[in-house]
Amino acid sequence: MTNDRGYLGVTPPISTAESNEREKEVTLTLMEELRRQGTFESDEEARTRELVLGRVSALVKKFVQKVGIARGLSEASATAAGGKIFTFGSYRLGVHGPGSDIDTLLVVPKHVSRDDFFEIFEPMLREFDGATEVAGVPEAYVPIITANISGIPIDFLMARLALSSIPEDLSLQDDNLLRNIDERCVRSLGGSRVANEILRLVPNVQVFRDSLRCIKLWAQQRAIYSNVNGFFGGVAWAMVVARICQLYPNAIAGAIVSRFFIILYQWSWPQPVLLKQIEEGPLQVKVWNPKLYPADRSHRMPIITPTYPAMCATHNVTASTQMITTEEFKRGADIVDKVIVGTAQWSELFQKHDFFHKYRYYLQIIASTGDADLQIKWSGTVESRIRQLVMKLEYVDSLILAHPFIKGFEQVCYCLSEEEIRAVAQGEISETISKRKKEDIEGKEGAGPVHTTTFYVGLAIEPKQPGATGPRRLDISYPTTEFTKLVKMWEKFDETTMGIVVRNIKSSLLPDNVFDPGERQPKSAVKRSKGAKSSNTSPDMPSSKRARTSNDPSPKDAPVKTNDNGTLPPIALTPVVETAGAFAPKESSGIKSPQLPFGENVAVATGAQ
Ligand code: ATP
Ligand code: MG
Repeated sequence: MTNDRGYLGVTPPISTAESNEREKEVTLTLMEELRRQGTFESDEEARTRELVLGRVSALVKKFVQKVGIARGLSEASATAAGGKIFTFGSYRLGVHGPGSDIDTLLVVPKHVSRDDFFEIFEPMLREFDGATEVAGVPEAYVPIITANISGIPIDFLMARLALSSIPEDLSLQDDNLLRNIDERCVRSLGGSRVANEILRLVPNVQVFRDSLRCIKLWAQQRAIYSNVNGFFGGVAWAMVVARICQLYPNAIAGAIVSRFFIILYQWSWPQPVLLKQIEEGPLQVKVWNPKLYPADRSHRMPIITPTYPAMCATHNVTASTQMITTEEFKRGADIVDKVIVGTAQWSELFQKHDFFHKYRYYLQIIASTGDADLQIKWSGTVESRIRQLVMKLEYVDSLILAHPFIKGFEQVCYCLSEEEIRAVAQGEISETISKRKKEDIEGKEGAGPVHTTTFYVGLAIEPKQPGATGPRRLDISYPTTEFTKLVKMWEKFDETTMGIVVRNIKSSLLPDNVFDPGERQPKSAVKRSKGAKSSNTSPDMPSSKRARTSNDPSPKDAPVKTNDNGTLPPIALTPVVETAGAFAPKESSGIKSPQLPFGENVAVATGAQ
C-alpha cells in the first residue's frame, strides 16, 4: 500500500534492494537473542489476552445497552447502539512482552457520557469475573480506568463520538470523527489513531514489529526510554523505526536495525521525522505544515505523529537527553557494524546501561509522604517536573549535561520519631531504620511510615581548563531552588504531608538499592586516573569537618551509609576522573551544594494521623 507517488512516507526509499545473505543470518541471530532475552510472551499468555479482550468487548456492549435503556431507549435500539473496544500501545503494535499491559479505548455513542464511564462501567468492571485492582482516575488529562483481569493489566480510555450508534466495522482513521467531540475524547482517540496509522504506513508489518522489538529492548536496557524524563517514549521509538522501514521497504529486521543506528546517529536534527505529509486537514483547520517545521526551534529532535492533530512526540527532549540519546545511537551503530562483520554478538547491543558508574556526582531528588496512595501522586508530580530541573541545570556554566535517570527508586521506612522521619525524607536512612518492620512501630506515638521515591540526575562537569589553578565551584543552587519552588506550585501540594529534597551526592555514596546484586564494584577496583586522589573510594573528609547549617536536623546518631549528606558546601574537591562514560570529563570540579533551606524542604508528615 503506497501513496500516489508509489511509496510510503514523505520521501522515496533510499534503497529497495532485498536483504543479502549476511543480513538474513544476522536477522536469525537477532530473533534468537530477542527470544533469549524474554521479550516474547508465551502462547498461553497470548491466549489469555485474547480471551480477556473478547470478554471485555462483550462487557462494553452490555454497558452501552444498560445506559441506553436508562436513557429511555427501547431494548432493541439500546442494543443496536453498539459500543466497540480498540487497542493501542505495544499490544496493538504487536511488540508487547510478557507482563505488558493492554491499552484499550472504549468507543461509545453520544448518549453515553464520561460520567457513565466512571459511574456505571467502572462498577461493572469491579463486578467482572477475574477483575482486581480496578481504579478510575476521572480527573486525569486523559481520564483512565486501570484494572487487572485474569492477571493481565489492562487500561481503559473512553471516547464518546457524535454518533447515535457505533457500527461494528467503525474505523477511527476518519478525521471527521473528531468534529464536535470533547477535548478529552480527542486525546483518548489519539493513541489508537496513531498506532493504526503507523501500521498502515509501514511496508511490512512483521519486519517493523521485529525491528521495533529490538529497538525497544535496546532503549530500555540503555535507560533512554522514557517520555516523561525527556527521552523518546514508546510512540517516538515506533515512529522512527517505521520511518526507517519506509526508507528500506524490502529490508528484513537485521538490516533495518543496522540502518536504524547509522541513520539516527547521522540524522541532522531538527529535521522532523514524518511518516505522512500533513497539509490542509479535512477539518478545514490549518494544520501544521511540515515545510515550516524547521523554523520551529522549540523541538530538538522532532518526531511528528502521522494523524490529526499532528503532535511532536519528542516535545520533552532537552539538550542533555539529546546528547545522551545521540551518544547511544553512536554506540549502537558501532556494535551493529561489528555484528554484521561477525566480530560482535547482538547481546552486546543490549548490555545494561552504566548510569550509576558514569558520573562523579549525582543529584538525588527525594519525594516523600507518609501514605502509599499519596506517594504515587506526589512522586509522579515530582518526576514530571524533573525535566524542568534538567533544563535549568543546562544553563549552569561548566555543566556539560544533566542526565536524568528514567525511573525512581521507592522505599518505605518505618520511623519511630519526628527526627527519624526528617532524616529519611532527606535520604538519610540508617541501617537500624532500614531494617525496621511495620510491626515494630505499630501503636507507638509519633511513629509512622515514610514513603520515599528517589530520582537521580547525573552531572557531567567540564574538564578543568589547562592552566587554571585553585579549586573551582559549581553553583547549582539556583536551578535546584527554582525546581523545589516549581514542584510546590502543584495545586495539590501540601507542605504538611509532602516532602521534597534535592541534594548532591558523590558516586561513592550512592545507596545499594540503585545497583543490581553484585553490580557494585569493590571499591578498590574502581578505575582511577593518574594522579587522582582517592575521593572516589572513601569519604572526602571526616564528618566532623563537614559544615552543617544551624538548622540541619540530622540526628546525632546519623546513619553510617549516607551520612555525607552532600547538601552542604564542601571544600573544593581534589580533581578526580569519572569512572567511565562518553561524557566523562577528565577532571571534575568542586560542587557547591544546592543549599536548600532545610527547614523548608524536609517537611513530611506521617500522613496517617
Ligand atoms: P508497554 O509494553 O510497556 O505497555 P506501551 O507502548 O504500550 O508499552 P504504555 O505505557 O502502556 O506503553 O502506553 C500506551 C500508550 O499510551 C502509548 O503508546 C501512548 O499512546 C499513550 N501514552 C502513555 N503515556 C503517555 C504520555 N505520558 N503521554 C502521551 N501518551 C501516552
Ligand atoms: Mg501498554
